[in-house]
Order: sequence, then C-alpha cells, then structure tokens
Amino acid sequence: MSATAKSVAKPLLLTNIGQLLTLKDITGRNEPRRGRELLELGIIENAAIFCREGKIAAVGSEVAIGARATQEIGSDLRVFDCRGGTVLPGFVDSHTHPVFVSPRLVDFEQRIQGSTYEQIANAGGGIRSSIERVRKASEDDLVSAVLRAFEDMERSGTTTIEAKSGYGLSLDSELKSLRSIREAAQQWPGTVISTFLGAHVIPPEFQQRADEYVDLVCEEMIPKVAKEKLADFVDVFCERGAFSIAQTERIFAAAQKARMGTRAHVCQFTPQDLSRLARFEPASYDHLDCLTDKDLQSLAQQRTIATLLPGASYFLAHSYAIARRLIDAGAAVALATDFNPGTSPTTSMPIVLSMACTQMRMTPAEAISAATINGAHALRLAKRKGSIEMGKEADLAVFDIRDYREICYWFGRETCRATVMNGHLAIH
Ligand SMILES: [Zn+2]
Repeated sequence: MSATAKSVAKPLLLTNIGQLLTLKDITGRNEPRRGRELLELGIIENAAIFCREGKIAAVGSEVAIGARATQEIGSDLRVFDCRGGTVLPGFVDSHTHPVFVSPRLVDFEQRIQGSTYEQIANAGGGIRSSIERVRKASEDDLVSAVLRAFEDMERSGTTTIEAKSGYGLSLDSELKSLRSIREAAQQWPGTVISTFLGAHVIPPEFQQRADEYVDLVCEEMIPKVAKEKLADFVDVFCERGAFSIAQTERIFAAAQKARMGTRAHVCQFTPQDLSRLARFEPASYDHLDCLTDKDLQSLAQQRTIATLLPGASYFLAHSYAIARRLIDAGAAVALATDFNPGTSPTTSMPIVLSMACTQMRMTPAEAISAATINGAHALRLAKRKGSIEMGKEADLAVFDIRDYREICYWFGRETCRATVMNGHLAIH
C-alpha cells in the first residue's frame, strides 16, 4: 500500500467557493432521488468547506466556516482558494471496465464501415479480442493500466469508481484482474468498489457449452472471489449472444449464497424480462436502452437503480436510453461512463453528463444528481458518499466555472481544477 495514497488526510479548508452544490439529503431517509428530487442540488453561494480526517467537518457560508476552521486547527491547516469556482460532490462513476491492455481500433474502423457490434463479436472481434491480451498480461501491466484509468477519471472530477473484471474469463485471469483492481485501488487516494464480471461473454473454449461455463462461474469462480474478498458485487451481461435470463438467475443465486451484491448489464440491444431478477434486488440495472413498458413501470417501484450509459450509445451510434420516461415514471436514475475499450472509451463524466443533457433530455441538475448521489446509491455507498454533508467522506470536485450548468455545456473542455478524495487534495 502506498503511504501517501491511504494515509490520514491533513485538515483542509476550501474557501472562496462561488457556487457549492451540496446535494444534501432532502428526503431525510437516505433514499435515491426520483422525479423532481433530482432538481434539488442544495446550492450555497459564497461557501466554504472544512475537511478533517478525511471527512466533511463543516460546510456552509464562507464567513462562518473559515473562522471556525482556523480557530480549531491553527497553522496546521491547508487552505485551498477555489477562486469563485463551483464545487460539487466528486462524481461516482458506478460502471467501468478498466482492466484491459489495448484499445480495439480494428473494431472501431469496422463499425464505422458498417459492421454491427454483434457482427464484429461473431467474427472474433469485440470482447473476445480483449481476452487474449488480458490473459497474457502480467499483473503489474494490468495494475498500471487500471491506475492510469483511475487517474484520468480523477482529472475529470471522479472520486469513487466501480471497477469490473471481465476480460479474463478463466479462473486465473479473472482473479488476476480483480487483484490488479485491488492493487491499483491501494495506490490511489479515491474509493474503488470492485465487481466480478466473469459472466461477460462465453469464452472461446466454452463455445456451444455455455451452461458448463456458467457452472464454472457459479461453482468455482464466485466462491473463490468471495473467499479472497476480491469483489463486492457480481455482474452479468444478460443479452442475446451473452447470458440468458435463466443463466443470470443461476449466477445471481450463487452470488447471493456467497453474500455478494448483484448488478446486471440488461436491455442494451434486446429487451429482457426483468421481473425474473427482481427477487435478487440487484443494486443496479445498467444500459436499459431497450426497456419494455412493463419493466419501466416496475423500476419506479424498486430500489434498484437504473444506470444509464450514454457513452456506449454515442460510440456505437445506437439508440439512447429513455431517460425522460424513466425519470417521469419515478425510477431512480444514475449516470456512469461504462469506460471500456470496445464501446465507451471515455473516462470523462462531464462528457457523459453533456450527452445525457443533449441526447437524453436530462437537465444539467438531473444529470448532476444522477452522477453523484444516485451513483452512490447504485454502489450502496450513499451513507458515505455522493453529497457534501457533515460526517460524510470528503470527496469533492472543484470546477473552474461560475455556474454548474457549464459542466454539461462546455463539452470536451475539461474544467475540473482539483479533486479532494477522502480529504486528500489533488490539483490538476
Ligand atoms: Zn459495461
């Protein structure tokens, strides 16, 4: 473990915040935000934040907080002038695939020339082409790749990341992938939640024997991952050409037995009957680009977060999720990058927020709630993360803008000037 990354943070005072988005809990029940609640950002003008031992110790007007912080700490205190900029909770990127070695440039060109995602996969490209390289890679190489992704995400304002395995698809290479996430997480001051995605696709050696691969996932991989405490969640790519609903049910049952949480990639290309997964109370359903009306209505009644990934729709030139209808129906919507080499090679949450606004007609306020507090709910971390409130972990993003809506407006222009991760300040 790196001493600097996980050491206790020194007291920190952020001053001269023009616009502070607290996202403070308005329900009083620590529930995900739905409908009009997504618009409530809890804005304080001319604010300051005082962080101590990695937590938010005080938040409020500049005058009150500044005086209190200097009184309590004296000369030990580090002061950071936000120069009238905007501060919000660090983004919670609740869906990423950072354990890969190289970009998939051939797939990229083939798709531009008209091949579909499924045609490329059937011809041996797609996820399978990443597998070979991950299997051959050393754990050190994977750690470097994952750490680089974390650092890139941090520069765009992300302070909590969910990271999945899923390009190894053998017991050894999945364990190697998860260990590389754990090692990179120890070298990075932010927070990482790890997910086992052994059920990403059927690996080549199990073609025509999908159920045997599911046996391996359920009977060997999940128990081993749980025993080594290498992941918090089990994920499944539940889709035509990947894993069926019946196979997903089996994998979720094995996860439940191992006392791990569940989440699933669903309805990206084809609709699925989500009612069959409801009994597992997954933490999130991700993608949802092809959702049936019945599933849309039932999501509004569930705790499961609807995590939308517009980066993948953009990169595949595919239809976007029906965010407006989901929000209006009362589903709890989150946004994430889906960072991966095949379908969404972006580490930038601001780009994703911009797409959510222009392509899915979410407002900037809805997009920010979805990328912070609802992302924290998608990872079951909302008691610790996702808003700026006393006692919560000090995860902040400082933007060089006067108005939070500029985050979604200046697409492609990175305006994040600094992040605070568990109380540690990183200036970009
Ligand atoms: Zn994904």
